[in-house]
Amino acid sequence: MSDALLEVRDLVKHFPIGGGMFTKPVGVVRAIDGVSFSIRKGETLGLVGESGCGKTTTGRCILQLERPTSGSIVFEGIDMVTLDAAELRAVRRRVQVIFQDPYSSLNPRMTIGQILAEPLKVHGIRRDKGERELRVRELLAQVGLLPQHDKRYPHQLSGGQRQRVGIARALAMEPALIVCDEPVSALDVSIQAQIINLLEDLQSRLGLTYLFIAHDLSVVRHISDRVAVMYLGKIAELADRKAIYDEPLHPYTRALLSAVPIPDPKIEAKRERTVLRGEVPSALKPPSGCVFHPRCPIAVDRCSAEIPPLREIRPGHWAACHLA
Ligand code: SF4
Repeated sequence: MSDALLEVRDLVKHFPIGGGMFTKPVGVVRAIDGVSFSIRKGETLGLVGESGCGKTTTGRCILQLERPTSGSIVFEGIDMVTLDAAELRAVRRRVQVIFQDPYSSLNPRMTIGQILAEPLKVHGIRRDKGERELRVRELLAQVGLLPQHDKRYPHQLSGGQRQRVGIARALAMEPALIVCDEPVSALDVSIQAQIINLLEDLQSRLGLTYLFIAHDLSVVRHISDRVAVMYLGKIAELADRKAIYDEPLHPYTRALLSAVPIPDPKIEAKRERTVLRGEVPSALKPPSGCVFHPRCPIAVDRCSAEIPPLREIRPGHWAACHLA
């Protein structure tokens, strides 16, 4: 895709288990097992799946907090996987993260003003103290906080305000891509909508691109242009938002959607639910063939023997299912 800001190709991340300096690992957790997708400039890609599906590890590989086992992560035309530490430093500035729990990532002994000024100083984005103070005020205003918030400490703010600080800190680096790792999961529902609206507003004003990671499809519905559904280290389905919600092709996506409540009680009472059998299997010993087959309500014999490739079933609509 020519206008892609980020291209992830055949990404694999395995974590060896056990073993020491002189002993071999006893197993391998296949956290990501051949994931490919791209994100266009200015787009939001929702990345959804249950806990342990590999979505957060995918985000961490893009942020280079984890080095992939294999595959490429091309950002603005540069494969980040091939860069050394010094080269990475420059690229990293352009890829920022917003965490689920900003409280644990904000230094409790620093004021909000100091927290926001620190990256400006460390990365030489604003060398002059006066310029930094001006930029901190600008950042606070951009995320809907008041100038006087710069004197407060993290514990003096509400959860929503702290997440606004987390967003401002990401913006301070003037990024092109922001990995939003479950940024609203820890917040009250009423605050969630405010933060999502703020992220959308910032995207249109600053031309930002988002990878928005979430564990259910209801959260990403509003904000995503396209959605990728992950299951046990692989992409099960990837399509435009409308296609994912209106015409899901993969049984796992259909099951996730059936768990999303519908506000209309009449429709809610009538619709059929797909309840998945059992738990997500361990990534230490994934099932043979289609990794979803032990839980799939429509599995056939072939499913336990053959891995279904991710195929473009309709233009722009990809699914990894033999029966799609
Ligand atoms: Fe279900 Fe088979 Fe499709 Fe996998 S390939 S999702 S087991 S029908």
